[in-house]
Amino acid sequence: MRIGIVGAGIAGSYLAALLGGEGQEVVLFDPKGPWEKPCGGGITHRSFEAFPVLDGFRDACRTVHRMRMIAPGGERCQVPLTVPVRIASRESLGAYLLDQATTAGAALVRERVSSMVPNDGQWRVLAGGQEYAFDFVVGADGAQSAVRRSLFKPFAGEDVTVSVGYWVAGEFDDELVIGFPEGITGYIWIFPRDGHLSVGIGAPMGAVSGQALFARLDEFLTQHAPDVTTGERVRFGALIPSLTRQGLASNRTGGSNWALIGDAAGWVDPVTREGIYYAFRSAELLSEALKEGCAETYEQACRREFVPELSKAAFYVEAFFDPRVSARLVALSDENAAIRKVLADLIAGEQGYGTLKQELLKVMPFLAKDILRHLFQKG
Ligand SMILES: Cc1cc2nc3c(=O)[nH]c(=O)nc-3n(C[C@H](O)[C@H](O)[C@H](O)COP(=O)(O)OP(=O)(O)OC[C@H]3O[C@@H](n4cnc5c(N)ncnc54)[C@H](O)[C@@H]3O)c2cc1C
Repeated sequence: MRIGIVGAGIAGSYLAALLGGEGQEVVLFDPKGPWEKPCGGGITHRSFEAFPVLDGFRDACRTVHRMRMIAPGGERCQVPLTVPVRIASRESLGAYLLDQATTAGAALVRERVSSMVPNDGQWRVLAGGQEYAFDFVVGADGAQSAVRRSLFKPFAGEDVTVSVGYWVAGEFDDELVIGFPEGITGYIWIFPRDGHLSVGIGAPMGAVSGQALFARLDEFLTQHAPDVTTGERVRFGALIPSLTRQGLASNRTGGSNWALIGDAAGWVDPVTREGIYYAFRSAELLSEALKEGCAETYEQACRREFVPELSKAAFYVEAFFDPRVSARLVALSDENAAIRKVLADLIAGEQGYGTLKQELLKVMPFLAKDILRHLFQKG
């Protein structure tokens, strides 16, 4: 089968590596190749456990063992990360995965795909003025996926987070910082990497302008991380799919001769905005479905395996970022080792949302009550 993959980010390159290894004829399209895509670059422990392909990339990451959390009122707590988070430059992760793909036999076309048209059971794909024919096409082209737009529909505004931030040059502490800005359903992150860091803020689309987000970020940095304001820095802005429960329920990610994976499919945790794990995993699920000769089972496999978890996360979003909840979370974490462990596990990707409520109830009835009260009031 001839397979065209639009986008050589994490999902596309990993899929190409898996399919190339199976002897499929694979062409990857990406005009940028490996690039410093706007991202925290935080790779959870569960990703390293789940995807052996990352073994050879471990040493390219910065390993961080502690997190500082800052509440809307400025209260703070330190959380030791029982399992560390690894943070990587996206350019180096992209180069690593692209190398796996081309080594497995995938061809890379450094062009943007400008159109794809069904033609007699096949696809005619146009890129860089040249036409290509494929039996199967994959949209791995990120949050603003043109493939998604042409085969299904773009994400609704309420299903998208707008994020802005900076890459700041320099060497910084091995500490991950998470801040909860008042009135924003999102958080500020500071993720140190080798030679630079990624710092940013996210909020639901339409809630706050990009300019206002930069202002909130600058204010936070001046107050809580002045060392980050002095280095040479480059601004970025990007979208993150963050699907609501309705968005997840009505989502469509494939048919008999096409599929969407990674961000293009909307597979991102709407609370932590972790998408790297899901980019890898959705590529694996699609490659398994294609291997079995039944592409349609890909979407069912995602719905079975992780959509219920994303849907539970979507249920928690507003409660989690309610300033009363985050303030209490930070204050109580400062005093309570058990709640620090729940948070560390959430960041490591080890704490599922299905059991989050029970874990919080076990360790901190007051906090769980706040979350439940918020959900009840909403509901
Ligand atoms: C600011 C920010 C911070 C984040 N932080 C984290 C984090 O710390 N940890 C985490 O797990 N997740 C994080 N995420 C989410 C994570 O970045 C994504 O989930 C992940 O990159 C998804 O991988 P992907 O391969 O699906 O898409 P991408 O990595 O976006 O790759 C898509 C590729 O498609 C290419 N492309 C686009 N259009 C075309 C076209 N027409 N033709 C050909 N190629 C095309 C692009 O050049 C790009 O290389 C963050 C996201 C943002 C925006």
